[in-house]
Amino acid sequence: MKFAMLEKYNFRDMAFKCAQCSYCQVGHGACPTYKVKRLESYSGKGKMLITKALMLNRLKSKDALEGLRDAIFGCTLCGGCEEICQVDIPFVKIYQLMRSELRGLGFWPEGMNAARDTLLKFRNIQGQSQTERIDGWSYWHPNEGHLFKHQLKEAKTAFFMGCVSSFNAIPIQATISSTLIFDKLDEDYTFLGDEEQCCGAPLIMTGDFETAKKFADHNIQKLQELGVERVITNCPGCYRMWNQEYEELLGIKPPFETLYGYEYLARLMDEGKMNNLPNRLDATVTFHDGCDAGRNTGFFEEPRKILENIPGIDFVELPHNKSNCYCCGSGGVLRAYDEEFASRISKLKIQDIEDTRADWVISGCPSCVDFLQYQLPKWGSTKKSKDLAVLLGEAMGFTWDGLDDAYR
Ligand code: SF4
Ligand code: SF4
Repeated sequence: MKFAMLEKYNFRDMAFKCAQCSYCQVGHGACPTYKVKRLESYSGKGKMLITKALMLNRLKSKDALEGLRDAIFGCTLCGGCEEICQVDIPFVKIYQLMRSELRGLGFWPEGMNAARDTLLKFRNIQGQSQTERIDGWSYWHPNEGHLFKHQLKEAKTAFFMGCVSSFNAIPIQATISSTLIFDKLDEDYTFLGDEEQCCGAPLIMTGDFETAKKFADHNIQKLQELGVERVITNCPGCYRMWNQEYEELLGIKPPFETLYGYEYLARLMDEGKMNNLPNRLDATVTFHDGCDAGRNTGFFEEPRKILENIPGIDFVELPHNKSNCYCCGSGGVLRAYDEEFASRISKLKIQDIEDTRADWVISGCPSCVDFLQYQLPKWGSTKKSKDLAVLLGEAMGFTWDGLDDAYR
């Protein structure tokens, strides 16, 4: 059989490139799904071997495609296989294209249809009213009126919040902290509020590129109407879409500079604008490199620079860190596909966290922070997760009601 999407993007030969070394199965920090399932098809190698056999008509299409679908959607898109592959197969891109291929072949999992319906109806992945994007949490902010003055104002810089950071209590604390930091720095910024729609990541990651393009077009048009030239987002998933996938998979080149929030803050530290923070925190922390912030986009040093600048922080690395960091389990829309599987993957991560003397696991990814907050106690840990923006806000002396409420 033919894989039209792989051919369209010139990736057909990748299935024939695998050297079968198995590094992507057993290498340091490699595939978490293989570690849990112990099925070869779940590793990068397994998926390439099945794809190759299908291309060569050595497997019966329906059974093999069902197995391939389970493995392709049962993947967190963590990039561990891509990181370690000795023949440089660009797996994350290939898996997204294959998800699109499987959709075209009628092998899209039922759960993906439900997630798509939610997005189309509510314009956000949480399935909540768009009016809640700011209204839903603004009462936690110390200056609610001031916050609303930023909504849909004309400005050169926009803060793109992302769905997880607009609707979920723990990640919202990072949103609040970020707005307080922006205000302290006299940053002139805008946000779209209830006009912000999902960046399209869940659609792109599951291969529905046509629908994702509609979401991307909407946000870009709204930001252009406000005169925006630079977009900052704390969500590395949104960042990866804006900065890589819009152009490569949707054919859109956003007319803005896009910055990951911790890249922006680390730059300010380099410029001496955020040194000598007033509040000493006295906490032992470790850091989780979320896959889209770390391996998939390369922001390893920026968050560590911020941590180094926070007074009183005793920082210890995870046993698997930076490019070898274990996925938390929540990536690649796996939670929508198989929540229980995602949770079993998080157990590996939590064992890693337990192997440190840290009290807190800090991350620069709102999805990871949110998922870990619920998985840590589930797997017997008393440690807690927190967003780096929250830690920084605390070091800058900010207090707000939501923080106590969320961590009560
Ligand atoms: S992206 Fe991650 S979960 Fe998916 S196959 Fe590669 S290593 Fe495994
Ligand atoms: S690491 Fe790359 S070359 Fe080695 S088995 Fe995995 S996919 Fe094949």
